[in-house]
Amino acid sequence: MALPKATLLSLLPLIAPTIAWGTLGHDTVAFIAQSFISNKTASFAKTLLNDSSDTYLANVATWADSYRYTTEGAFSAPLHYIDALDDPPASCDVDFERDCPEEGCIVSAIANYTNRITPSNISIAERQKALKWVIHFLGDIHQPLHVENLEIGGNGINVTFDGVTTNLHHIWDSNMPEKLIGGYSLSDARTWSEELVAEIQSGKYANASSAWLNGIDIKDPVASAMVWAQDANSYVCTAVIPLGQEAVEGKELEGEYYDAAIPVIQQQIAKAGVRLAAWLNLIVEGKTNSGGYETSDQTVKRGEAKLKDWMVEARRVRRAFGYNCGAEGHKH
Ligand SMILES: [Zn+2]
Ligand SMILES: [Zn+2]
Repeated sequence: MALPKATLLSLLPLIAPTIAWGTLGHDTVAFIAQSFISNKTASFAKTLLNDSSDTYLANVATWADSYRYTTEGAFSAPLHYIDALDDPPASCDVDFERDCPEEGCIVSAIANYTNRITPSNISIAERQKALKWVIHFLGDIHQPLHVENLEIGGNGINVTFDGVTTNLHHIWDSNMPEKLIGGYSLSDARTWSEELVAEIQSGKYANASSAWLNGIDIKDPVASAMVWAQDANSYVCTAVIPLGQEAVEGKELEGEYYDAAIPVIQQQIAKAGVRLAAWLNLIVEGKTNSGGYETSDQTVKRGEAKLKDWMVEARRVRRAFGYNCGAEGHKH
């Protein structure tokens, strides 16, 4: 029996759990990067990933969100974000020593796995994983709520979107990008990436995009990732909760909020793709520090930061929450 198309479509969200940025966001970032990486980097990635298709980066862009749910990969769950202990919307900032705890964070993870992609003394399997993590984390670090502690990256801020009860983190990861594009398939991601690549090459990002690579230094991946983290975190104050948490709590955000957020989402996805391409080119053609750790348990060294009581409590709440991203069926 054939179900009406509308019924099938309404069942889709139940069948396919949304994965953060959302599959759509991660796949789009990967496709943009594919457009900008060098031939040498492309062939390096195809060989390491053992995938000669024209979707070779997009095919692995959400692997990290599945792997974190395996026993073997559970250690990697806290590596998808950094909980900036700042005070939005009054002040936004990220501090590596303050905000990246012992279990690691997205900044230490980018640094660690960047150094594990090329060394020939590391197994192919581990080098593949390192590349897949870097592809994924370069996406996540551009989602403002992956660079914010407040209410567990917005997971604790309940909102409504198009009449559906969800949370602020989830609408930034998935609902808003999917509303813009009208789906989350691989071909939707390809279409979105083509639009953004055109904007980068000769459209609204043509001027700004040259500055997107400022601050990138392959010899200092922590500093490089912190530039991206600071950039994304600044949008928590200006676009995510510009009028404070109370202004969005319990509200329907499809409307003015969505209209204001979409340009930020588009630009962050575009930036992530451009930066991922540049970073992979540097990894393959430049010189990385080699080594790193297989499981990011012993992450990049950092000094002791003095935390205020509320910061200690915020970190306890995040750990009690279980490192994941909240809402049922939401894998980020
Ligand atoms: Zn993730
Ligand atoms: Zn997320």
